[in-house]
Amino acid sequence: MKKVHVFNAGPCLLPQEVYDSAIEAIRDFAGTGVSVLSISHRTKEWDAIMDETRALWKELLNIPDGYEVIFLGGGASLQFLYVAMNFLEKKAAYVDTGVWAHKAFKEAKGLGNAVEIASSSDKNYNYIPKGYEIPKDADYLHITTNNTIYGTELKEDIDCPVPLIADMSSDIMSRPVDVSKYAMIYGGAQKNVGPAGVAFAIIRTDALGKVSRYLPTMLDYRVHIDKLSMFNTPPVFSIYVMHETLKWIKAQGGVEAIQKVNIRKAETLYNEIDRNPLFVGTAAREDRSLMNICFVMAPGKEELQDEFLAFAKAHGIIGIKGHRSVGGFRASTYNACTQEDVDALVACMKEFEKLHA
Ligand SMILES: *Cc1c(COP(=O)(O)O)cnc(C)c1O
Repeated sequence: MKKVHVFNAGPCLLPQEVYDSAIEAIRDFAGTGVSVLSISHRTKEWDAIMDETRALWKELLNIPDGYEVIFLGGGASLQFLYVAMNFLEKKAAYVDTGVWAHKAFKEAKGLGNAVEIASSSDKNYNYIPKGYEIPKDADYLHITTNNTIYGTELKEDIDCPVPLIADMSSDIMSRPVDVSKYAMIYGGAQKNVGPAGVAFAIIRTDALGKVSRYLPTMLDYRVHIDKLSMFNTPPVFSIYVMHETLKWIKAQGGVEAIQKVNIRKAETLYNEIDRNPLFVGTAAREDRSLMNICFVMAPGKEELQDEFLAFAKAHGIIGIKGHRSVGGFRASTYNACTQEDVDALVACMKEFEKLHA
């Protein structure tokens, strides 16, 4: 296979070991002689995978008692609705840090009284709002910890006087998290913990059951908790690959070890962006994401953008075109992206500089 360096924003690169075990499981799942694509989800072999997957989540994120982890279809986008259905009674507060945060807000607004209490839309979401007041009468505060499109990240677990709910689609398992500060954490798996097709939710169970609206069965978190994520047929293959990805994270030394590598990768690339006169970063320095690194051509060099994309592609660098709402470039340096991948991109930026010095 051609040697390439993949910086796709999602679905993300996964470790080679995960691809290999997925291929093996398609041939023969757990020595059963049946493909993972065709096994019954009502078998003891599958139950073992579900149990282990939940246990790995709890172990890797040090999830305290009182929380449950569930797996659902519909991506993070359906979680936007689930959250409002299951938690919004009188008032919900949202922090607007980009397209995804705003989409989450929109679903709450459609169901009841939701307010955006802070926003960074004034600067095209290039920073994380700070110092805003959280209404004490809110049922919950919703935040998006990593803004995949804009490359900003809230890297700490904030104190919040009301239940805190976080979309961690694109930075889950990239660092240790103090889960006890959240009523709920959710996301789509395909940014950092698996392939597309499954979403995860970590929920403090005593935060549920406080709304008076009718909850359709499939949209009631309590049903999925009671049925251990198997009320209906779960996304079997996606969960299997997530299981393998979590095992890989554990084998790397867990999220603390992964975080060290992520910090080093991000520093390598940000240092080059700051040094290289052809490029500039777009996110405010203190809020720079370790997962999605956004940059553009320096002022006066804009016409080189397409040439750099083509140059990078010719050097095996894949997936660095920025999102259309920011432009320029975005390198997603999720867990499976290696220091070697980042070094290859940096070498390419240096070579490009020589051509245009
Ligand atoms: C990608 C992304 C989403 C949307 O995820 P889907 O699974 O495609 O619905 C939501 N929030 C964030 C932060 C994302 O990066």
